[in-house]
Amino acid sequence: MRVAVVGGGMAGLAAAHELAAGGAAVVLLEGSDRVGGKLRLGEVGGITLDLGAESVLARRPEGLDLIHEVGLDDRVVHPETITASIWTHGALRSMPPTVMGVPADADALAASGIALMPEPRILPVPDEDVSVADFVTARLGRDVLDRLVEPLLGGVYAGHTDQLSLRATTPQIAALGEDLVSAAAEHRAASDSTGPVFAGLVGGVGQLPAAVVAAHDVEVRLSSTVRSITRAGDGWRLSVGPTTDVETLDVDAVVVATPAPAAARLLAEEAPDAAFALAAIDYASMAIITFVFDDAVVPDGSGFLVPPVDRTFIKAATVSSNKWGWVGGTGRTVIRTSVGRAGETTLLQHDDGELGRRALVDLREALGTLPDPADQVVQRWGGGLPQYDVGHLDRVETVERSVEGVRGLEVCGAAYRGVGIPAVIASGRAAARRLLDAGMIES
Ligand SMILES: Cc1cc2nc3c(=O)[nH]c(=O)nc-3n(C[C@H](O)[C@H](O)[C@H](O)COP(=O)(O)OP(=O)(O)OC[C@H]3O[C@@H](n4cnc5c(N)ncnc54)[C@H](O)[C@@H]3O)c2cc1C
Repeated sequence: MRVAVVGGGMAGLAAAHELAAGGAAVVLLEGSDRVGGKLRLGEVGGITLDLGAESVLARRPEGLDLIHEVGLDDRVVHPETITASIWTHGALRSMPPTVMGVPADADALAASGIALMPEPRILPVPDEDVSVADFVTARLGRDVLDRLVEPLLGGVYAGHTDQLSLRATTPQIAALGEDLVSAAAEHRAASDSTGPVFAGLVGGVGQLPAAVVAAHDVEVRLSSTVRSITRAGDGWRLSVGPTTDVETLDVDAVVVATPAPAAARLLAEEAPDAAFALAAIDYASMAIITFVFDDAVVPDGSGFLVPPVDRTFIKAATVSSNKWGWVGGTGRTVIRTSVGRAGETTLLQHDDGELGRRALVDLREALGTLPDPADQVVQRWGGGLPQYDVGHLDRVETVERSVEGVRGLEVCGAAYRGVGIPAVIASGRAAARRLLDAGMIES
């Protein structure tokens, strides 16, 4: 039995990993010239660094499990510091304890000078989906939303809280219940003792894709954009490659692991309801600008986030050389900044030099004097992150119902139930498992 996995990001790779381990013959079709999707290594100032995703949530097992299964255990590390700041009201201010921006200590929030919080209102959690902004503002006021929740969510989704779904993006806030601040305090007290929150790999998490490929006998075809997927007898026929030279590939089953716009096109014929729902998912584009400095002096801590209301160019900066021991060990200062939120398309129209120049102006204002960088690299991520807007989980259920009715077809990836690396790995493996469990694959 032969299975095609369309898309070689972490979701597709995890699906291929599970399928190959389950005895399937797998062909992985990747449109670009490399596997990994939003995981990518690149060289800045002679140091190989992550230019896309750079850390894995350690409080979910799926990321670390896969790292273990492909033999990268000995490279797992945890951040040296997770002390982050908010750059607002003209200064870097230590982030008080929060649960996804919901303050867990009103006194610490007041002392931080970040936001003013009125007496929290105790209100029931609505049954229907609402925006994060509506939920938080009604209970904790606009300032907490703007200066704490918004920058934290901006970091994960690059979106806007007045559109993002509470249930899809911040179920942990909804789970706090009626009395947000008290519940956040309890939640923090309980989770402070449960080990590191994040993990990385010495040499970058961008090593994971190649390690997954190397662990199995998977046929990887690069520069192989899949154009269409249609039924052919009991199986599937894929059209692959440039429009001028399309090849067909016949397989028994297909896992579509692409972002939503490509998945919508590929499913239009065989799962039109799914295609329609997928076409409604927007994406935010962004760029990561990484600087390497010699002889720079920077404050301690992992970096800072910026509330959009402060109207800076960058939305966040990570001092990678403080955060990761292996980066700091190079003796140089490495700072990665990110720019671009959903809808901010004009900002990314600047050329690389201008993006770097503007990011550096912000960095100098936030961190103090910095020398000219020894090197800088701009990595653009067009369509980088799906936007889980209000009603997202209903759209996902529509996709799942529609695809469930089609034998030998599965979908997975960041468009559905979580954008983080562990979540997309989980979705890829679950898609593969469904095929294996349905007896699609003879082992
Ligand atoms: C800048 C940035 C930083 C991030 N940082 C983190 C982080 O630190 N930690 C974390 O957990 N998450 C992070 N994320 C999120 C996470 O990396 C992604 O959500 C996740 O890697 C997406 O995996 P995926 O496989 O679903 O999709 P993708 O990585 O987008 O992979 C999809 C693949 O499908 C291919 N493709 C598309 N269409 C076709 C087609 N028609 N035929 C064949 N191939 C096709 C694409 O070329 C791509 O390789 C970050 C995301 C971005 C953009």
